[in-house]
Amino acid sequence: MAYVHPRFDAIRATDPEVADLVVAEAEREAGAIRLIASENYASEAVMAATGSVFTNKYSEGYAGKRYYEGQRVVDQVETLAIERAKALFGAEHANVQPYSGSPANLAVYLAFAEPGDTIMGMSLAAGGHLTHGHKVSATGKWFDAVGYGVRKETGRIDLDDVRELALEHRPKILFCGGTAVPRTIDFAGFAEIAAEVDALLVADIAHIAGLVAGGAHPSPIGHAPVVMTTTHKSLRGPRGAMILTDADHASAIDKAVFPGLQGGPHNHTTAAIAVALSEASTDEFAEYAHRIVTNARALGEVLAERGLDLVSGGTDNHLLLVDLTPTAIGGKPAAQALDRAGIVCNYNAVPFDPKPPFNPSGLRLGTPAVTSRGMGPDEMAAIGNWIVDVVEADGDDEVEQRVRNEVTDLVGSFPAPGITL
Ligand SMILES: *Cc1c(COP(=O)(O)O)cnc(C)c1O
Repeated sequence: MAYVHPRFDAIRATDPEVADLVVAEAEREAGAIRLIASENYASEAVMAATGSVFTNKYSEGYAGKRYYEGQRVVDQVETLAIERAKALFGAEHANVQPYSGSPANLAVYLAFAEPGDTIMGMSLAAGGHLTHGHKVSATGKWFDAVGYGVRKETGRIDLDDVRELALEHRPKILFCGGTAVPRTIDFAGFAEIAAEVDALLVADIAHIAGLVAGGAHPSPIGHAPVVMTTTHKSLRGPRGAMILTDADHASAIDKAVFPGLQGGPHNHTTAAIAVALSEASTDEFAEYAHRIVTNARALGEVLAERGLDLVSGGTDNHLLLVDLTPTAIGGKPAAQALDRAGIVCNYNAVPFDPKPPFNPSGLRLGTPAVTSRGMGPDEMAAIGNWIVDVVEADGDDEVEQRVRNEVTDLVGSFPAPGITL
């Protein structure tokens, strides 16, 4: 048996079909170089907490104000998660119940806007998230959404452009943060604009929460009264989300999450969030956060040296956006070729992409997961060279197979946290 999880034998005994799939996924995750910027390897402790008895308990409401009995222990675990979140990020209030990042953002809208109101966020095409008002999302259908982008010459947000749009449209909510933004978010700059147009600034730090926690990216606390984050990306916890607020915005958020949007909280996730927050408060994690950034820079340098274009010319954080517009290969075939070679990433639109979203011109690469395996700048150099080899080979079998073999050799020396092969 290839995979040993604390409860794995129980899955095998009950359901061999699912057990086989768990093994297959464990082997895939350990056997490849995972560069999907939103993914990570949760620790064994985090995974064990998600598989704990807290999955059995219903607890609609909040600690001390529940709609069911038997909450003595759940109240303690949720309070622990809240106190740890407040301490780690320096926030006045935390709600740890949102099921994931998208419903957490919906709760923000429900708390502070009415259908038909104007809201503003970074457009998906420029690196924003669907839930910041994209037209196929509920948030784009129910609100009058205005999107800001980046400057063509720099690939970066220009706050003068954001200010101009905000003054023209006067949004009720202004989102900052995104999913494909390789540069530092200027929370103070966004806060000034929000104040000028009387908008509520919401910082969506889903991607960079681990960097913020570890001091490798400035914190939005003190600039944005409402901060949303997922817990499963660079923060390296279970799949879930949190909303951090100042005291003034606390009760509106709590009411929006429950009863506004959700029923019973996922207490097993809450327990695992508490574990992840304790892990993220260590010096070791702060070092990890800084190594993520060092690794992203090292990877970017090799890609650029070998002639690939990077949106904005590089990175300040955990991710790189490669612009393949000048190359022969598109983003999707490149991502598929890399997957065959054992390097997993995603194709992504680049700003001003001449190609459609289902076959865009970019690759998004992130370093949180490989850094969790203990890889450093030397490994980033090797990976960068393999990426360029595969992209330049444009589907050549032999090159992909050669890289696949070298990848297999490399990952053998860097055990994946939480996975025993
Ligand atoms: C991932 C992400 C979300 C959504 O989180 P899910 O857990 O996938 O619903 C929201 N905003 C940003 C910026 C994200 O990166």
